[in-house]
Amino acid sequence: MNLSDIKGFGKGTKGLAALQAAGINSLLDFLRYFPRTYIDPNKITKIADLKVNEERGTAPDVIIGQVNQTKNDRYGNRPFEVLLGDDTGNVKLTFFGAKEHWQRELKEGEKFVAIGKLRKNKFGNFFDREIIQSLEKFSGKLISIYTITEKMSDARIDSKALTKKYEELFQKNLSLILKSEERLYPQEILEYLEISNELELYKKLHLPQSEGECYSAKKNISKLELLPFCLRMARRRRLLLNSGVARKLENEKMLLAEKSLSFELTAGQKNALSQIKTGLESSRQFHALLQGDVGSGKTVVAILSMIGVCAGRANGEVNLQSAIMVPTDILARQHLASMSPLFERVNLKIALLVGAMSAPERRKILLGLKDGSINAVIGTHALFSAEVEFANLGFVIIDEQHRFGVSQREKLLAKGDKPDLLVMSATPIPRSLAMTFYGDLENIILAEKPPGRKEVETRIGDNSASNREKMKTYLYAQSQKGNRCYWVVSRVQEISDGDGRNVEAKTVGDIYNELKEFKSDWKVAAVHGQMSEEERDKNLTAFANGEISLIVCTTVVEVGVNVPEANLMVIDKPEQFGLSTLHQLRGRIGRGNEQATCFLFCDTANHAHDRLTKFASTTDGFKIAELDLENRGAGNLEGSDQSGKWILRWFDWKDSQPLIEKTITVANEILDNKPNFPPETLQKIQSWYNDKKFENIEDGVH
Ligand code: ADP
Ligand code: MG
Repeated sequence: MNLSDIKGFGKGTKGLAALQAAGINSLLDFLRYFPRTYIDPNKITKIADLKVNEERGTAPDVIIGQVNQTKNDRYGNRPFEVLLGDDTGNVKLTFFGAKEHWQRELKEGEKFVAIGKLRKNKFGNFFDREIIQSLEKFSGKLISIYTITEKMSDARIDSKALTKKYEELFQKNLSLILKSEERLYPQEILEYLEISNELELYKKLHLPQSEGECYSAKKNISKLELLPFCLRMARRRRLLLNSGVARKLENEKMLLAEKSLSFELTAGQKNALSQIKTGLESSRQFHALLQGDVGSGKTVVAILSMIGVCAGRANGEVNLQSAIMVPTDILARQHLASMSPLFERVNLKIALLVGAMSAPERRKILLGLKDGSINAVIGTHALFSAEVEFANLGFVIIDEQHRFGVSQREKLLAKGDKPDLLVMSATPIPRSLAMTFYGDLENIILAEKPPGRKEVETRIGDNSASNREKMKTYLYAQSQKGNRCYWVVSRVQEISDGDGRNVEAKTVGDIYNELKEFKSDWKVAAVHGQMSEEERDKNLTAFANGEISLIVCTTVVEVGVNVPEANLMVIDKPEQFGLSTLHQLRGRIGRGNEQATCFLFCDTANHAHDRLTKFASTTDGFKIAELDLENRGAGNLEGSDQSGKWILRWFDWKDSQPLIEKTITVANEILDNKPNFPPETLQKIQSWYNDKKFENIEDGVH
């Protein structure tokens, strides 16, 4: 039986296309498309207590109400509208498609259960339902809520429809149907993890009979989800411990370079540097993660350790090379400017390698790297390219690691003979995440910031028209005084939700026009991901020079651009961002000596205020990272929210440490073949090591 054998998902149907677009290509994929969350329909919200909730990933509300009024525009473009009311008030529901069907179904005076969220658009508040069902037919069992993509919703696939499909499927003898499905977990592994039956587990996840059953199923699926990751990390860690070369760093030259700095290293920087030195000098391969909050001064630690390696020796050889990779051209140029003097001071040569470069210039650098006359290189993705060869690459540094994938990192490492590696993370990573996804790396923490920095002040305001006017007046005046400002929005283009309504959110273009209309001589420019990198760099450079005083942008500015004169930031609809992203954004300002202010422009009456208030009260990235993880709860790692990827969807990061530790132990036992698995099972485990799927997911985690 194939996916296309399920009724409604036949070949050529919209339904099948929608599933495929969500990454569901087989029956097993479909069975593994687990609910996003569950609703206990017995926990009813009174209509008057509904709050506008636009936040991603939060659980929907359940309301019960009577149809008090219907409004139909059968032939026009207006949706069919219904007022649903309980003893506390009414709420509007709108139906764009299948209007006749809904008109028949939703008769005045009858009672319905609706599950969804209260949202707001330009016509006012409405209840954006995921499910609506007649109260009479309502079973009261836990209800599975799935991620419904736009295409699914176009094909009339909603949570209720999916549940029905699963009910039908689980009546069949699935273990017989999936007998030759290789991607099922081997029975020995299930037993080792104390899980009796994989398909039975899936059934409980889709169609839980009770809260208790749902709870234990979630716990078991977490174990299964976690195991491949832990195995991959444990194995990588072993490989590193068993290979590598000891080298001697050039202490004198490191000190010489350090002395030429215009500032004194902080104790935290010294400490991190000494841990890196110890690692580089040890005889095993050194792979480490340097975590430091935005602005903590990781770059200089990286430069000094590069100098130590380039000037040092390994196995009697001289001239080891090092490479540092950063996500954008502009960042590469910025880093080069701060690195060059230090390298010159100790007679070493560092070069730049980026995409936008003249051919002769590029050739010269490629040659220098190949013959070893260039000691170090700073570059972007251009460094992966096959034509980049090194004489003796000994040390690789990846800055802003969340912008790169594991496979990209491996590609660069492969250009040397087991080089050492330092990845630098801009956002602190909570311990449970670090153990799971960076378990192969030694963890080095740079906890302190250079002295004298003023903390960015964060203010929460609401996004009313009068506030916006005030803000524009204030920012314009600040621009006139030479201050610089970022205005961040969540999107570049209009997007619409499943029912074809435009979601209320301003785009880069909207704000740009709004500001230009306000004052036509305001020096404003836009920066977003859909621009060419050249254009983006041009605008950011103009901003850094002061030719532009305000940048309207998306989160692309999150990547470490350093403009010390920028001390103002407005974030429009901060509810829509994860806290770590907000923290990164905020880290773009307050890099100079002036007091910096970040304005969070929220929707009125949004319940995410609580989360944002906590965010506003601290600038400690480590605290924020933990807070973020807590808020995200199960699954919902940034980026994987909408895509229907199922790995680690269930994992509740909040109380996860014991489970992770246990699974790492199991992973190590398996690597030692303590459970005495048969060869087929071991082979299966081997195949996980190379599975691109896991790699892609690791790539997306930060
Ligand atoms: P991040 O850790 O976010 O990458 P950077 O390395 O870009 O931070 O450093 C931020 C700024 O702090 C830079 O302008 C850098 O020159 C400065 N800086 C770094 N270390 C110190 C120090 N010990 N004292 C004063 N300023 C420092
Ligand atoms: Mg940085």
